[in-house]
Amino acid sequence: MVSAAESGIQARSLKVHLINPSNASFGTAVITPRWLYVLAGATPGCFGDPILVDETLEQSDPLQFQRGDVVGISIHTGNALRGYEVGKVARERGAYVVFGGIHATLYPEEALGVGCAHSVVKGDGDRVWAQVLDDCSNGVPKPIYEGGRIDASDFVPARWDLIPRKSYMWASVQTIRGCPKHCSFCSVWRTDGQRPRQRTADAVMEEIVELRRLGFRYIALADDNFYPVSLNDLKLAARQNPERLRELEAIRAERFELMSSLADLPSDTVFFTQITMEAAEDPQFLDAMKAAHILGALVGVEAVTPEGLKDVYKDFNLAGESLVERLQVFRQHGVHVLGSFIFGLPSDRPATFDATVSIAQRSDLTFAQFVMLTPFPGTVDFNRWEANIGTDAPKVAGVPITRHWLIPHDLRPKLYSPHPVMSTDEIRERTQGVWNLYYSMGSIWHRSRFLKTAKGRLTFVLISKIYRQMYADTGIAADSARTSWSTRWARWLAKPCRMLFAGKPMPELSMPIANPGYRPWQHQRIDPSGDALVTIRP
Ligand code: SF4
Repeated sequence: MVSAAESGIQARSLKVHLINPSNASFGTAVITPRWLYVLAGATPGCFGDPILVDETLEQSDPLQFQRGDVVGISIHTGNALRGYEVGKVARERGAYVVFGGIHATLYPEEALGVGCAHSVVKGDGDRVWAQVLDDCSNGVPKPIYEGGRIDASDFVPARWDLIPRKSYMWASVQTIRGCPKHCSFCSVWRTDGQRPRQRTADAVMEEIVELRRLGFRYIALADDNFYPVSLNDLKLAARQNPERLRELEAIRAERFELMSSLADLPSDTVFFTQITMEAAEDPQFLDAMKAAHILGALVGVEAVTPEGLKDVYKDFNLAGESLVERLQVFRQHGVHVLGSFIFGLPSDRPATFDATVSIAQRSDLTFAQFVMLTPFPGTVDFNRWEANIGTDAPKVAGVPITRHWLIPHDLRPKLYSPHPVMSTDEIRERTQGVWNLYYSMGSIWHRSRFLKTAKGRLTFVLISKIYRQMYADTGIAADSARTSWSTRWARWLAKPCRMLFAGKPMPELSMPIANPGYRPWQHQRIDPSGDALVTIRP
């Protein structure tokens, strides 16, 4: 069969739409949904530029979908239901509907049924997308495409030339997929795998330089875990497995090589990423992050007690006062932390909420988020929870709670497992109380003291308030009236907020020439006893 890409005839008659589904639209968004621009990059030129719709900005318009068009929708569990609504409408209008993303990978049958999909792409879509489009244009889409876990050298760069520059505060670039940890509430290590797949420094830099030319100076490194090899991993490997040690050292060396390149970017560049708390034991890594303009990181603290950390298989974290000291290390090295905490763990007690807010206040965190434990598909927690419930799951609006993402948003329970000592309402109210305390005007102002000017501190207050407004929806009043008020408020604030992040376009910026000077981190080795990291001088 002649492919559409080869014939170029049928391909031209169909349009490709890529939709990032969301119930709430703010007109302005914090971070670009990277997948939209990557799949645009993976779309062969014969299909023309895809039409990109990010519903966190504006809702999609069904009238845009025409018979024979291809509508690609990527979903995670949180936006699956909205994605299915879009899929249904697109199919009714005669378009080919294709789902991808973590949730569709886990539940392809659901996307084919509830989402009315013709096809589901499982795993990475970068390479297989061209085949999907070809098959649709020939009228023969397959139900399942196996995208697999492709090598980093096959990651497709994003088409940033298609971005509406004035709609986003932060751009997003991926440097690594996969995470070697195995936290019980997280699906990343199961979907993206535990083997870190790192892009080369040059591939990452090319995208970043393009973004800086366009005027983005705040860029999220949208990685599963920017810190894939801890010192402890090196020490263990040094004692047990020399071959593994060489692998880990190579991964680590590539991280430093990337940071060395990032360090050569204009000095006002700011990156934000996601790392584990173990990085606090690794001052050279933190210093390299600072030099590389990686000035902020999300750190999953999760729980402040040893019992809580055991609940989530995260006992590589610290608890109590040691936790405060450990978190303070990030700021001492110039890295600001957004700490993430989970409430509703079986070991939580009423006192846990006060203890958490106290630790969050004293740990020099710049921001914090407090989420309620939700069993997400693809996680150990979910499998255990689903098995415990068995086949006779309670239903809400006719949907078993083991498929909670299909329950209409307003009716969704806030907690899914009965807690040993607290009611769901109590956990919800206490969680909201923690958000209120942490983001009270007095607390925010106190946290802003690291900024030296009144203007800087006021900006910090504004950003803190909008962050709280956009993300604290665990709330006492998550009813639709309150949610829509909240959305309006965030919508109103988001525009001026974006201006704070805007950079000056730098169309003349070229790829920095690699600085051949001595970089101490390129010469690190674990010592033969496996006890320490030593710097080998040339
Ligand atoms: S929560 Fe973070 S550290 Fe844990 S498995 Fe997921 S990505 Fe890795």
